This record gives sequence, structure tokens and C-alpha cells, in this order.
Amino acid sequence: MLILSRPDGLYCQKGDFYIDPSRGVDRAVITHAHADHARRGSKHYLSSTASAPLLKRRLGRKISIQSLEYGVSVNIQGVKVSLHPAGHILGSSQVRLEYGGEIWVVSGDYKTCKDTTCTPFEPVACHTFISECTFGLPIFRWPSPEHEWQRILQWWQDNRDTDRTSVLKVYSLGKAQRVLQALKDVGSEILVHPSIMDLVPAYETQGIVFPPMQIADAKSVRKSKGKALVLTPTCNSMEAWMDEPESWQMMEISGWMQVRSPRRKRHLSCGFIVSDHADWDGLNQSIHATGASQVLLTHGDGILLMNWLKRKGLETRILKPDNTKKELGKN
Ligand SMILES: [Zn+2]
Ligand SMILES: [Zn+2]
Repeated sequence: MLILSRPDGLYCQKGDFYIDPSRGVDRAVITHAHADHARRGSKHYLSSTASAPLLKRRLGRKISIQSLEYGVSVNIQGVKVSLHPAGHILGSSQVRLEYGGEIWVVSGDYKTCKDTTCTPFEPVACHTFISECTFGLPIFRWPSPEHEWQRILQWWQDNRDTDRTSVLKVYSLGKAQRVLQALKDVGSEILVHPSIMDLVPAYETQGIVFPPMQIADAKSVRKSKGKALVLTPTCNSMEAWMDEPESWQMMEISGWMQVRSPRRKRHLSCGFIVSDHADWDGLNQSIHATGASQVLLTHGDGILLMNWLKRKGLETRILKPDNTKKELGKN
């Protein structure tokens, strides 16, 4: 086993490093800058070049970090380690490990559909593929992103016609910048929450172009008189910015919008279906493209996908933390 699943993350014993550990460790390889993958407190980090500025922004300027271009390898105690595009957000990586002729790839989060803010997913040949499976059910099949951008524009226009501010709830890292990029030629009067604006420079240094935009706050929202599109994180409450509930319309943009119960929970009649994760077809195509004979599923309830892949002849199991190896990082 080149990689073990431990309670604090995926661990490579030969190289004595973790991938996306849930606590601070001596050496952490980070697939991308989302909070559930990049955590504070490690002595040393390794990430892709495009991910490093985002990690510094989120984990602190002073972290010790080595960055790698995609496809370039480093040797960690005899394990050849390289990073490859995952197509999830800017800088997101799959991690390829090679030791004694055995090749393992950890997908991190990934998607296969078009995203102009990051390098597209590339399947990496391996013997064992550890794949995320957030949307590992056949009900998840994404419409084309272009179709959803058009729906957003139409919704915004309808709200403008009735002087209602359009509030779009998005993840601040990745999804927000993807929406902004998609609206770069049509956007005007776009207001963005400071937590989203904060991450924009890291994208701009990679050559990503955004439409003109301003910081969203109570003043700028009121001044726009119902014409603006406001991008705000899912946790932000709009009530502080707008007193009259009928003066704005809210929508959310996420893969979960394809199913009814998450929409109901958020009191939304519908939403926009754009995800940064692979859908059912994307997962299946990517898994097969690696040529892996062993597939380990993580990051989601993978039972249905596991059974499906087994029927296709792939040795598959769900990766569960091995609690017998708890005293970790010591080996
Ligand atoms: Zn992620
Ligand atoms: Zn994730």
C-alpha cells in the first residue's frame, strides 16, 4: 500500500508525508486551496505553482511552501511525486506517486467539464486511483455550463426589469471567479463580497480576466437601485444590506441544485446547476481513462458507484480511515 487512509488524512509511509491532512503535520502535499483540503499548522507544504498564492492567502504569508509546475516531479525519500491538473479550481492538482514500479494517483476534487479559470483535468495512467465521488450517483448529470450562464443572464435581466437586485450565492473560491469569468463580456454593475474580491488577484496573475466590479456593501447595493448582480458567499446574510425583502431575488449555484431537497432547505424554487466536481459520467470516464485496476473511493457516499465499477470488473472499495494506525506521523 503506497497510501494509507488514516484518521488525519491520506498518508504515504514510504515518503513520510500526508496528502490534504486534517491537522498540522511535518510535510503536507496539498491538492487545492479549499478549506477542507488545505489546513493550517503544517511545517512544510507542497502544492502546484498556481495554488501557492491562494494557500498563502488562506494559511498565512509565512508558511513554508514549495511549489511545482504540473508534470514536474520531486523525490521525497525515494517516492517520485508529481502534480497534474484536476480541473476543479485554479491550481487544483491530482497527486501522482511512484515507488518501486507502482503508481498511485490521488484525484483530490476534480471535474471534467469546461472551466476557463483553471487548467483542464488530465487523466493520469496508474495502477491505483483514489477518486473523489461527491456526486457519485447517476442522477447527477450536469447541463452545459454555457446553458446555465445564459439562464443566469436571463434571470438577472428579468430582475433588472422589475428593479430587484439579483443575489447569487456562490463559494468564494473557485465558483465565484468562474461565474465572473463567464460574465466578463456582458457584466456591468457587478458587486462582489470582499471575501471573493480578496482572491481575485491570485487569478489575475495567472492571466484570468474579469469584468469591472465593485465591492458589495450596504451602500453600493442600495446605490445600484435594483440593477446589480451581487455575488456573495453562501454563509452571508443579505438582510444587513437590504431592508425590503421584495427588493431582491436570491439564487444559488451548485451541483446540489439538481436535486429537490437541498433547494427546499434553502427555500429556493430552483437554482443554477454548475458544479466544480465531476458528475456521474465525468467520474466514470475519468476513472476508466486512468486504466487503474484498483479504484478507491473517497469524499462522498460511493456505495452505488463502487458496485457499478465492480460490475465493470474493477477492484473497487470505499476508502475508510484505518483507525488501527492512529498514532501517526511518527513512522
Ligand atoms: Zn474543493
Ligand atoms: Zn473537497
